[in-house]
Amino acid sequence: MSQELAGKIAIVTGGASGIGKATVELFVAEGAQVVIADVDNAKGEALAAALGDAARFKHTDVTSAADLEALVNFADSEFGGLDVMYNNAGISSMPYLRFVDDELKDFQKVMEVNVLGVMLGCQVAARYMGEHGGGSIINTASMGGALPGWGVVPYRASKAAVIHFTKCAAIDFGSYGVRVNCINPGQIMTEMSPFPEPGMSEETIARIKDALVEPMTANQPLKVLGSPEDIAQAALYLASDRSRFVTGTELNVDGGHSAGDGINHLQAIMQARQAAIDAG
Ligand code: NAD
Repeated sequence: MSQELAGKIAIVTGGASGIGKATVELFVAEGAQVVIADVDNAKGEALAAALGDAARFKHTDVTSAADLEALVNFADSEFGGLDVMYNNAGISSMPYLRFVDDELKDFQKVMEVNVLGVMLGCQVAARYMGEHGGGSIINTASMGGALPGWGVVPYRASKAAVIHFTKCAAIDFGSYGVRVNCINPGQIMTEMSPFPEPGMSEETIARIKDALVEPMTANQPLKVLGSPEDIAQAALYLASDRSRFVTGTELNVDGGHSAGDGINHLQAIMQARQAAIDAG
């Protein structure tokens, strides 16, 4: 079977864990050479070692322009180019649920990693790709950025900025042959999900996972949680030449959440109506 990314060189930020890790693994399986960029040295180095010659780890803090420039130079010196830049690193603004409780330092940090990190990553990649025949940039936004909702307000705002920025960057970079798209993951089980905490037993974690499926899928037509591999598959499409005519788009990978309000209000209304009639 042919490999979709044969001959391509990619960078994945936040590549040591969760969605990034699944994407690194899929890209390598599809023939790419991949630089894993992350602040987590232990996980990044372990993943690179497990993948062998097709992967390298480079310590990178995406809030640092110098780190990102060094990262692109690293891809060039180690593998000889850069075709795909996946700006995926991000942090949540949990545990705060109410914005009135948020502290300035925390929402500044969310904006720095999630917005500044993506903008810098796009800029350094576009400069390189523009001079080397073009390429594909992918950003991880979120359903939380596409749909306003309750809680984690700084996180939602940061991801809305990523979506808007992606479209502006696509318009700006198109004439250099650089495509820019983003993926909006829905509810994906990763370390960013509201579990586990250090010290929890495997049994407790398994119980929490089971208990969370229903509330986390309440607004989804598909009653299953997404996996990091589901997002990796979307990234593979946007990285490959199959999407050569696609730029400035947001790809929702969310079990249908973005299609609309998935909660059956009509049933609740009819039940309330019947209860009122029966009470008479
Ligand atoms: P994760 O915590 O498993 O992975 C995030 C990775 O980013 C980690 O390896 C972490 O070390 C790295 N990272 C954090 N700050 C960094 C920095 N300053 N520089 C470089 N690397 C940094 O989480 P995940 O769920 O795989 O999240 C990946 C992306 O997907 C994030 O942008 C997140 O906002 C987005 N997302 C996740 C979900 C979900 O349900 N898990 C839903 C929507 C969007």
